[in-house]
Amino acid sequence: MRKAVAVVGGGPAGLFAAERLAAAGCAVTVYERMPSPARKFLMAGRGGLNLTHSEDFEAFVGRYGAAAARMRPYLERFPPAALVAWAAGLGQPTFVGSSGRVFPRALKASPLLRAWLARLAELGVTIRSRHEWRGWTADGALAFHTPQGETAVRADAVVLALGGASWPRLGTDGDWAEHLVPDVAPFRPANMGFDVAWSPVMEGFAGTPLKGIALAFGGRTVRGEAMVTRYGLEGGALYALSAPLRDAIEAQGSATLQIDLRPDMELDEVARRLARPRGAQSLSNHLRKALKLSPVETNLLREAHGKDLPAEPDALARAIKAAPIRLTGVQGLARAISSAGGVRLDAVDARLMLKARPGVFVAGEMLDWEAPTGGYLLQASFATGLAAADGVLAQLGGGARAG
Ligand SMILES: Cc1cc2nc3c(=O)[nH]c(=O)nc-3n(C[C@H](O)[C@H](O)[C@H](O)COP(=O)(O)OP(=O)(O)OC[C@H]3O[C@@H](n4cnc5c(N)ncnc54)[C@H](O)[C@@H]3O)c2cc1C
Repeated sequence: MRKAVAVVGGGPAGLFAAERLAAAGCAVTVYERMPSPARKFLMAGRGGLNLTHSEDFEAFVGRYGAAAARMRPYLERFPPAALVAWAAGLGQPTFVGSSGRVFPRALKASPLLRAWLARLAELGVTIRSRHEWRGWTADGALAFHTPQGETAVRADAVVLALGGASWPRLGTDGDWAEHLVPDVAPFRPANMGFDVAWSPVMEGFAGTPLKGIALAFGGRTVRGEAMVTRYGLEGGALYALSAPLRDAIEAQGSATLQIDLRPDMELDEVARRLARPRGAQSLSNHLRKALKLSPVETNLLREAHGKDLPAEPDALARAIKAAPIRLTGVQGLARAISSAGGVRLDAVDARLMLKARPGVFVAGEMLDWEAPTGGYLLQASFATGLAAADGVLAQLGGGARAG
C-alpha cells in the first residue's frame, strides 16, 4: 500500500517536499488555498528570482543569525550547489550576478515553475487548489474550507508549508498560526522598509535610489543600495540590517543608521577633494563637482546634519562619510519581503516534526527563522522542505498515521 501524504501549502517548501515524497513512492496531495500554487514564488521572480547565493558556506550559514545552528544541518544536506543543480535539471541554468547572488538565466520564476509543475504531475502529485486549511477536526483529520463547503482529509503523514505572514494578498496571511498555538512566535516584518520623518524637500525625492552607499548599525556595515520613499527608506542594504534595526526600534522607539555616501573613498581623499577652491559656486555644485554627489545625496546630508553643512573640508568629509539618519518605525507585514516569527524551532524535532503532533512536519518560512534577501529565504525554504520530506519518510518507515 502506498502511503498517503498531505502537503498543505503550495509554495516552494511544500512543492519541494511533495517532489521528494512522490519520487520516494508516496501518494502525495498538495492542498493550496489560492486558485493556483506558488504565487509568492512568482512574485519573487518579478524583480529577478534570486534563488540562492554563491558565497562561502560558512558565511552563508551565518546569515541565519540566531537560527544558524538549527538551520545548518538542513543547509548541509541541501546546499546552494544542490539548488543550482536542481534548477538546471528543470532546464533552468543559473548565473552568478553582482555580489554573488544566483539567478536563473531566464530571471523570472514562471519558466521554472512551469517545468516543476510538469515534473510533479509526472510523479503523480495531485494539487488541490482553493483548499484552505482550518486546523483539525474533532477526530484528528485535517479540516479544509473549499468553495464547495467543509471537507476533512486523513493522511499517513502531513507536511505543513504555509509560509510566513508577509504579502497576505498572495495567500500568506499567517492565519494558520491560531491552529498551532502555543507553538508559534508572533510574526514580525523582516526585510522591510523603515520610517524616517523626512522634510517635505526630501519627500520630493521619493523613488530616487541611493547607489553605492554603505550603511552602518550596531557594529555591522553593509554596502549596497537603498531607495528613498515617502515614508522613509527601503532596499537591499537596509534589508541586510533589518533584523537588528527592527529589534532596536521595538526596544527603544528609534534607531540611528549611519550612511556613508562615498564608501569607496577614504576620508582623507574626500577632504582633499573638498579642499579644492570653491570660488563662487554653491555648496551643492561644489559637492557635485568634487565628489559627484547627486541632488538626493546632498539633501540627505542636510536631513542628517541640518541645513547649514560645515564649510571646513575635514568636517564636511566626516559628515559625508557618516550621515546619521534616525529611523522612527518599521513598515508592516503587508509589503515586507518576509516575516520573522512562526513555528518555534524548539517546537519541532531535528526532523522538523511537531513535538506536540507526531506525524505532522513543518517546512519553509512558516518556521521561526529569518535571513536577509540575497537568496537565503528560498534556499532555506527548499532545504527545510527536503528535510521535512525526509522526516516523513523516516517516520513512515515506522508506520505512523497522522490526522
Ligand atoms: C516581493 C518578494 C520578492 C521576493 N524575492 C525573493 C528572492 O528573490 N529570493 C528569495 O530567496 N526570496 C525571495 N522572497 C521570499 C520568498 O518568496 C519566500 O521566502 C518563499 O516563497 C517562502 O516559501 P514557502 O514555501 O515557505 O512559503 P510561500 O511561498 O509563502 O508558500 C506558502 C503557501 O501556503 C499557502 N497557504 C497559506 N495559508 C494557507 C492555508 N490556511 N491553507 C492552504 N494554503 C495556505 C499560500 O497561499 C502559499 O501558496 C521574496 C518575497 C517577496 C514577497
